[in-house]
Amino acid sequence: MEVNALLNEIIDEVVEETETEIVNELKSDFHYNNEWIFQYERNIKKLKKKNKLLEKQIYKACNHNWVRDYDDLYSRYKICTKCKLSNIPYK
Ligand SMILES: [Zn+2]
Repeated sequence: MEVNALLNEIIDEVVEETETEIVNELKSDFHYNNEWIFQYERNIKKLKKKNKLLEKQIYKACNHNWVRDYDDLYSRYKICTKCKLSNIPYK
């Protein structure tokens, strides 16, 4: 084999190996981030659930003072000046 052809073959091999390494590294970062996204999404869901329960408890505990919601004048609900919840049933 001619020296130039041999050199070209070696260069092609090195380029391909480097490319594979880079792609694998990027894929690894991608999967790592996805794991974190999954964890955060689970935590957000948990916190939302907890806040729903807290809202229910606040609703029960507060001695409400209902007033019209001036940010939403057409709303049929009122807002409590103390706990800031509206007078909708919290299930
Ligand atoms: Zn209240």
